[in-house]
Amino acid sequence: MSADATTPGSATAPLRAALDGFATGLQHLIKVVDDGALNDLGTHSLMEFLQDFEQIRNMMPVIDGAAIQYGTEQGVPGVLCQRTMTQVLLNGLRLSAGEACRRVKAAEHLADRRSMIGEPLGPFRPHLAQAQRDGEITPEQVTVIDGALRKVDHLDPAQVDAGEKLLVDNAAKLDVSTLRLVAQQVVDAIDPDGTLPEEREHHRRRFVHLRQRSDGSWHGEFRLTPELGQKLQALLEPLMRPKTTQGRIAADDDTELNRRTVDHDDRSQGQRRHDALEDAVDRQLRSADLPESGGTPTTLLIHLSYQEFISGQGTGRYADGTPVSVRTIAELAGEAEVAWCVKSRTGAVLQLHRSRRIASPAQTLALIARDGGCSFPGCTTRPEWCERHHIVAWQDGGSTNLDNLTLLCRYHHHNFEQRGWTCQLNPDRLPVWIPPPWIDRHQRPILNPRITISNWDPQDPLDLA
Ligand SMILES: [Zn+2]
Repeated sequence: MSADATTPGSATAPLRAALDGFATGLQHLIKVVDDGALNDLGTHSLMEFLQDFEQIRNMMPVIDGAAIQYGTEQGVPGVLCQRTMTQVLLNGLRLSAGEACRRVKAAEHLADRRSMIGEPLGPFRPHLAQAQRDGEITPEQVTVIDGALRKVDHLDPAQVDAGEKLLVDNAAKLDVSTLRLVAQQVVDAIDPDGTLPEEREHHRRRFVHLRQRSDGSWHGEFRLTPELGQKLQALLEPLMRPKTTQGRIAADDDTELNRRTVDHDDRSQGQRRHDALEDAVDRQLRSADLPESGGTPTTLLIHLSYQEFISGQGTGRYADGTPVSVRTIAELAGEAEVAWCVKSRTGAVLQLHRSRRIASPAQTLALIARDGGCSFPGCTTRPEWCERHHIVAWQDGGSTNLDNLTLLCRYHHHNFEQRGWTCQLNPDRLPVWIPPPWIDRHQRPILNPRITISNWDPQDPLDLA
């Protein structure tokens, strides 16, 4: 791919014309619907319309699948200094990680491919690809079928192909959850010995998923091996016993006194397990055994204005922007090492003080307060996983002070230079990145939006440009 092909506005004319035609047709349809075309439809006609429209929607991934596959083959992620195509979609199209990953996986198996020497190859899953072109299969069904068959792709290709055809032929008649069951049956038929000995199966299927919700709370699911489940139960059980009103843990013996006092603990079993987990985590955080992160001991960083601190009211923010009440901060500070960092209105760090024990190298803390994570545009890597980067290299005379340092994740630290990016401090003393000319001819500096937002005063207009 030539560097020019990455600049906007150079899409070839037929592609542009076709896209414009598509947009015009869609706008026309919207207008017809707006004008009341649905009003006279009976139930049957309405369903027919919805199904016909869905069929068109089902075809659309053919286009982005082809574009994603082309981008992957041409090394677009590297040109844009992104780790993967998923990351490109996540930043460029503002998709969630799950959706970006789903599209990339679908493209990998459903789009036409090219061999290493450029020969055209058909799609890896021809039946699925054809059904998608015909609009007969939804993106969700594609994920179910492709995901199931990936488990047996290392086995007899003829059988996998037959399984794919069978599932595609039946997909139109099945809802997603039934299709999932049937897909598992097909996988079992292709790989009858696939049921691993129980222990290996437990090991293979283990996972812990943790996801932060938009309100700041966390949601998760897990499947633990029997060993870890036993250990966790042994750890949590003593901590989750109901508390007596005296705040002691109730004894095992079921005396009348205990039964009465235990009644005062009105937490549900689930809440007690939650609190027990928190106790266990606190205990671990207080111990000195944890590895250092980014040069500081494990640290919770909280932003709080002076006013809020003095008044004891309002909310601060964790380093990633999650709000936290001043009351909670006071509780946390009771067991933490505390660092003070005075910042200007625009976010530059003016002073740093520490109290209690010396917590960490001061500069890293100040850097975390200012950058909040990797400062490369679009990167969301958290500060714990970042390295400190000298903007002017140490060997070129760059000093080790705040105005010459920024946080970078390992990937960006080791890749930005060869991709033509440079870093400098803007007049607000915040780290901005200058893209190479083939990404932006005008080489306008980019500030990671996280830094803008974390230093944004709600009184001011938000400027993300
Ligand atoms: Zn990064």
